[in-house]
Amino acid sequence: MQVTMATSPAKPDQANEDFTAATPSGVVLLDGAGLSGTTSRCSHGVAWYTRQLGGALIAGLADDSDQKLPAILSEAIKQTAALHEDTCHLDELGTPSATVIMLRTNRDHLEYLVLADSVLILDQADDAPLVISDDREAKIGQHYRAAMDNLANGTPEHDQARRDYVQALRPHRNKSGGFWVAAADPRAADEAIVGSRSIKDVTAAALLSDGVSRLTDRFGLTDWTGLLTILHDHGPAELIRRRRLRPTGRALAPWEGSRRRDRRLLHATTRRIALLLRLPNCASKGQP
Ligand SMILES: [Zn+2]
Repeated sequence: MQVTMATSPAKPDQANEDFTAATPSGVVLLDGAGLSGTTSRCSHGVAWYTRQLGGALIAGLADDSDQKLPAILSEAIKQTAALHEDTCHLDELGTPSATVIMLRTNRDHLEYLVLADSVLILDQADDAPLVISDDREAKIGQHYRAAMDNLANGTPEHDQARRDYVQALRPHRNKSGGFWVAAADPRAADEAIVGSRSIKDVTAAALLSDGVSRLTDRFGLTDWTGLLTILHDHGPAELIRRRRLRPTGRALAPWEGSRRRDRRLLHATTRRIALLLRLPNCASKGQP
């Protein structure tokens, strides 16, 4: 299989809090959850957390055992928590967290795990793309995000509204009836979406942080097929670059579709990470 990826931090001078890595048979992608200015009682920070958790996950995937993906995630969360439980407060207010996507080829199947709001798209040989994401946080967030959405991105007022939004969500995080992310509680692994597909039915997989997937699932600038076409034709870096460089007022490119939304949101300075994994039968898609 062939893997290409691109990532960019929210701001050039900010540590990249995303993580991705690949082995010959698997990939992981983590989108770290943290926000400057909010209270954290972990001295290490989100970038450190995603590197530690991601490293443990890729080591678990590289193991030849048939350990299930949730078991690998659960163990990795425990290992990472053990690295700083003696020095940091790992309660729900203080623990860095991350979304997780894991993908592994296992004999003739492609196995996946998705935890929280990163998006996995499976490009299928003879069917529409299969989109896998956990929307529990988005559904709960709808009740709290109006103030943030009505402010221009990048302004102090928006930054404060975003901090308020994150604080409002915290009582729902890693709680029954709320939403789950990888943090310090290994029970989150049991809340992940898991599944598998026959490898012969899948030509490629796209792994996207919500900063990239919002192009489709929030702003409707293209559909999932269109987003996959951009990835296939231009690669993950181009997908991220086009969003970043578009000046306000420029006409939307054809691939962006016709549904113009709030431009302040389109220029959001969110972290972005995108990975495209091409499987062996990718080249044959669409051919007789
Ligand atoms: Zn810590």
